[in-house]
Amino acid sequence: MAIASEPVAGSVDIAANLAAVRAEIAAAARQASRPADAVTLVAVSKTHGPERIVPAIDAGQQVFGENRVQEAEHKWPELKQRFAEVAVHLIGPLQSNKVRHAVALFDVIETVDRPKLARALAREMDKQDRRLPCYIQVNTGEEPQKAGVLPAEADAFVALCRDELALPVAGLMCIPPLEEEPALHFALLGEIARRNGLDGLSMGMSADYPVAIEFGATLVRVGTAIFGPRETYR
Ligand SMILES: *Cc1c(COP(=O)(O)O)cnc(C)c1O
Repeated sequence: MAIASEPVAGSVDIAANLAAVRAEIAAAARQASRPADAVTLVAVSKTHGPERIVPAIDAGQQVFGENRVQEAEHKWPELKQRFAEVAVHLIGPLQSNKVRHAVALFDVIETVDRPKLARALAREMDKQDRRLPCYIQVNTGEEPQKAGVLPAEADAFVALCRDELALPVAGLMCIPPLEEEPALHFALLGEIARRNGLDGLSMGMSADYPVAIEFGATLVRVGTAIFGPRETYR
């Protein structure tokens, strides 16, 4: 996934970018005969500091996504104190030894992908008495280097999380392979969700969120289209 780093543009009109993304979401939802409020925009603020995040909050954005626990721990406690209505989703890999911090800080965990992590999350949510909605990450492209349960293992893993561990499973999440047609992966994720009776579908990024909405996305995770390019890709 090596992409040349690009310098971050000095000025980014975050309010205008957000308005454009929201308009695209509404248009894609309308085209799919879905209500616009069926889709929640997760503004992916990884690598960006408060100077980009606060303008987004001021423009009405309340849901954010971060992919690293440690980075989020540096940024969000203070912001959450200032802006109590804001929710932060974890959209990156979660190591078992960071589960305590993750449960304390985040509002939604989108990347539950293995039994050990699911068990640790269930234990920690009990301990902290914080029941966070969880999404199960599915490796729809069956890429060896990518996190997520394989499609063939998804039903059993959903059952483990939901029935045995009583995790609040809200839906499924995927990151399609870079070089493939995302629609195939969105359709597959939707099919796995339907047969498991799950409503939530976290799929679609800057390059493909309108397609994801066509295929039923309830969460779209959009970074670059809102905040501009990141200094390094991750
Ligand atoms: C970075 C990231 C995004 C956002 O990507 P953009 O292309 O900048 O919109 C979405 N989902 C995950 C899991 C990410 O890590």
